Order: sequence, then structure tokens, then C-alpha cells
Amino acid sequence: MIAPGKTIGIVGGGQLGRMLALTARRMGYRIAVLDPELACPAGPVADLALTAPFDDSKALRRLAEASDVVTYEFENIPAESLRQMASIRPVFPDPSVLHVCQHREREKQFLQSSGFPCPAFEIVASASDLAAALKKFPGQSRLKSSAFGYDGKGQLALGAGADASQAWTQLGIPRAILEEHVSFVRELSVLVARNAQGRSLAFPPFENRHHAGILERTVFPARLTDPVANEALALARQIAEKLNLVGLLAVEMFALADGRILINELAPRVHNSGHLTVEACHTSQFEQQIRAVCGLPFGLVAPLCPAAMFNLLGDLWAKGEPDWSPVLALPGGVLHLYGKAAASTGRKMGHLTVRATTPEEAIRLGTEALTPLRQAAALPTLAL
Ligand code: AMP
Repeated sequence: MIAPGKTIGIVGGGQLGRMLALTARRMGYRIAVLDPELACPAGPVADLALTAPFDDSKALRRLAEASDVVTYEFENIPAESLRQMASIRPVFPDPSVLHVCQHREREKQFLQSSGFPCPAFEIVASASDLAAALKKFPGQSRLKSSAFGYDGKGQLALGAGADASQAWTQLGIPRAILEEHVSFVRELSVLVARNAQGRSLAFPPFENRHHAGILERTVFPARLTDPVANEALALARQIAEKLNLVGLLAVEMFALADGRILINELAPRVHNSGHLTVEACHTSQFEQQIRAVCGLPFGLVAPLCPAAMFNLLGDLWAKGEPDWSPVLALPGGVLHLYGKAAASTGRKMGHLTVRATTPEEAIRLGTEALTPLRQAAALPTLAL
């Protein structure tokens, strides 16, 4: 067990690293962070902040040596960097888990070969591969870069009769998967923690809505029938088991009209859709991740109240710093800002969590409070 007072190393110093570090500090841990950006969000809240690329051997060694256990908050870290650190200190989740989850082909092949339900796909490495794959999915489809994709980046939604060579040139990457379009009724995510003894515990499912590939809103608890919720939880726990996970895993899913669930993506880390656990669950995802990688008993995942989380993207800063008054005046509202100096389109600058007596009330209150801020930035009002 890595007890409070010890040092947790975090590879990646974005907002997830910042919230992980703040929680770890509250629990009495020291924090060391490695990030390529000097002004990264986690830097000011870490005991040691190293600024270096994720493949800088010297910096990786320093981080590992300064830490008692190492974890990470970002998928696009070379698995080799984590392996290097694992020869010095324990790294959780194991680098092999990141290796699978950070690459869509490996991830899909893992899911498919293990018998987990996921959308049909074809691997493509050229315009002619793509032309052949498009024949298998003649309606709508999704072309997704195999590596380095996140927040809908490296992704194209293709319509019937799409031009293979044009789409391939537009995506401009060496390998991708073409996936069938899924007409889901809801997008879900389940966060499951698993420890070295094989015990796992999942938060109740979250209901997510994306806009332009980026998470727009999460609602908790997800509005699902019990069988669908139970299936989502079972799948997440089985995937964690199959990966031999130690740590936290986010499993993104599509719920279909007929009650089936398809697995979309895996992320072996804390996740944007789990932010509302800070206010809406007995234990936050950040604390659960720390507990899992430090070998502490898991915290309770039971809900405290319904909630909705709204991402605050850089678009909201289009006309300058937003006037936060309506958000700050919201009873049950909790504003989180990540301390990023420069806002840009699609950049996650913060989020708003709203607690209420029902999920619908949380959605309504948050949507209404954000309306004047969105109007001031010339953005359309969020749909309920
Ligand atoms: P991803 O980066 O794969 O999670 O995709 C980002 C978002 O795009 C998802 O959360 C969905 O809203 C949408 N999306 C991705 N794949 C599909 C698909 N095969 N069918 C329909 N929508 C999709």
C-alpha cells in the first residue's frame, strides 16, 4: 500500500492531472507531474513539476525516482515511456493496458477477439483499402485515425457515396479504421476501478451527449432501464478484468433502441464524463483512481444526488472572459476552471456541475444559467 504522505507521479499535467493532484493533496499525498507545457494546469498544484516531452528519458527517470507510484492522465504518451518508468517504480494501469487503449486498431481487435460487442469496422491503410471498406458500409460511416485521436480529432463522418481518395487525403494519416455508423439512442460511459487483488467496483453509468466529437454534457444517473444499466456495468467490469487492470478505466458505450450495448472506446484513466462524481457521488473518480493505484480500499460509489455536467469550451471566451454571474448565482452549481491562459475553439477550459433533485432539473438549471454566457459569445443556446 502506498500510504498518504508518499508521492504519486502523474504523466500529463492537463486538467485531469490537475484535479487528480488536488484530490491527492487533500488526501495527504505529494505530487510530481511531467508535462511538455511549462504552463500546464497541474503545474501550480504539484510539489514537483517537470517540463519535458513525454519521451525524454532523463525526465521520465526523474519523475519515476521522485515518485512511489506512477500513473497517467493522458493516452497519447508512448507506452515505451511508461515501460521505462515501470522498471524503476510501479506504474498503474500497466503500460500494456495503455498500449491497447491508445490505438484504435489494437483496442478494437482486443474487444472483438474477447467477444465484447462493438461496432463493425475495417482497418484501412490506403485510399484503395478505404474504397473497399466503404463498399461494406455503403450508408453512413466513420473514418477514425488509428493513433492520436481524441475529442473527435482525426475523425471524419462519411455519407453514402463518399469519395474514398478525397476522404483519405483529407484525413491525411497512415492508418485508420472505417466503422459502421451507429444509430444509438444514448451514449453512456462507465468508470470502473479495479485493484491488484482483482476486486472491481463501477460507478453507476453516466449519460453523455457530444457535439462535434467533444463531450458537451453528462447527466447522472443515466436515464436507462435496469437491464441496460446492469449490462453496461457488467461489460465494464468484464473489460477491466480481461485487461487485468489496476487503476481506473472509462468505457464509452452506445446504447441501441433494442436494448443492446456496443463498446465505443476505452480510456485507462479518469475521464471527462466522470467529473460530476466530485459533487454527485460519495467518492470522486479522482479519489477512486488514487485509491486503486495506491492499493487503498475503494471508496463508496453510491450517488449522492442527480447532476449534470457541462463542458466549458474555449468558444465561450470568443468575446472575452465570460461573465460568470449567472453561473455563480446558481444554487447547486459548482464552477470548475482549469487555469488555462489561452482559450481557443474546442479547448476544454473548465466545466460546470449542477446538482438538483432530478437529472432533468439539473439539465434545465445548467442550460438556463449558461444561456446568457453563450449569447454573449454568439453561440447557439444548448438544447435541453
Ligand atoms: P470517439 O472519439 O470515437 O469517441 O467519437 C466521438 C463521438 O463521435 C462519439 O462520442 C459519438 O458521439 C460519435 N461517434 C463516434 N463513432 C460513431 C459511430 N460509429 N456512429 C455514430 N456516432 C459515432
